Amino acid sequence: MMEANSRTELSALGEFGLIDRLASRIQLDQPTSVKGIGDDAAVVAPSIGVDGQAEHQVVTTDMLVEGVHFDLGYVPLRHLGYKSIVVNLSDVYAMNATPRQVVVGLALSNRFPVEAVDELYEGMLLACRNYGVDLVGGDTTSSRSGLVISVTAIGSAPKADIVYRNGASDKDLLVVSGDLGGAYMGLQILEREKAVFRDSGAQPDLDGHDYILERQLKPEARKDIIELLKKLGVRPTSMIDVSDGLASEALHLARSSGRGVRIYDEKLPIDPSTYNTARDFNLDPTTCALSGGEDYELLFTVAQSDFEKIKGNPSMSIIGHMTDAASGYHLVDKQGGSHELKAQGWDALLQR
Ligand code: ADP
Ligand code: MG
Repeated sequence: MMEANSRTELSALGEFGLIDRLASRIQLDQPTSVKGIGDDAAVVAPSIGVDGQAEHQVVTTDMLVEGVHFDLGYVPLRHLGYKSIVVNLSDVYAMNATPRQVVVGLALSNRFPVEAVDELYEGMLLACRNYGVDLVGGDTTSSRSGLVISVTAIGSAPKADIVYRNGASDKDLLVVSGDLGGAYMGLQILEREKAVFRDSGAQPDLDGHDYILERQLKPEARKDIIELLKKLGVRPTSMIDVSDGLASEALHLARSSGRGVRIYDEKLPIDPSTYNTARDFNLDPTTCALSGGEDYELLFTVAQSDFEKIKGNPSMSIIGHMTDAASGYHLVDKQGGSHELKAQGWDALLQR
């Protein structure tokens, strides 16, 4: 999906020409970005907290592989660039930290013209601007099989603020931001329209699915939730971002913390467009919310004493609570029946 009419071969610029071209569009804003593109390594100074102490740094990396994580048949490169940054920032926020720098590794096949790399970078740089992070370096190499994007994000936070997966206590409330299952249903729409196009040449009909398509193609990291919790004076006891599906992430929190967990089906936040699309596809909306993945919401636990501070907040839903380890992992259905909570993942969903 390239809009550009002109095509400049990568070989016309060469690796260094391409890097120069990318670097010329990059501007550094973080005071801790001492040296960006142009030397053997970027230089990043430690962040200093309000107490004058050096903050802890958090580092996370994610790799996106063409044909595995994305399909250029329906993902515009600008969106792909945006998403590749956002999914990394989501991991930094999930530590209750602030992202400050990213480095970007690219493996490009000569199928890509320079204009395609420009579009990819446009999306990446837009995400960097929106979240206030600097792109301080990367690596560029060739690929024989397709596009590979590897992004590493660096963030920081006062030591005492960092939230791990393993801090949940018995009876802590389980809370999730936003709503679930939308990104997965957006993907189903894109896959369906791709198949229609392949079989009949008909133009894709994406009307009326704006919300779930945006959830899939242009997700946002929940920076706002981290800020909101600080404002409310709530420090989560454990936290994780929802990339593989709620069930899987809830099990991570429970197992890391040595606890059990109970999730209530009727409490799961599902947008009406997600719900209706799931029904159109003969899928169970609850299953989509539990196992769909790529929602990039934050899942966290808070002490019961924080209930008053978060109850009724439209940005988050209390969906359950932690239990002692011996109680196990449960999903309580709308009739009150209890089922074992399992991380089905995408495969199970696709086999339905
Ligand atoms: P080296 O040979 O020392 O690895 P490179 O030629 O790979 O150096 O990189 C030169 C500079 O360009 C470095 O600052 C590196 O971080 C930056 N760089 C290379 N590729 C990219 C990219 N895709 N995006 C951003 N910066 C890049
Ligand atoms: Mg290099």
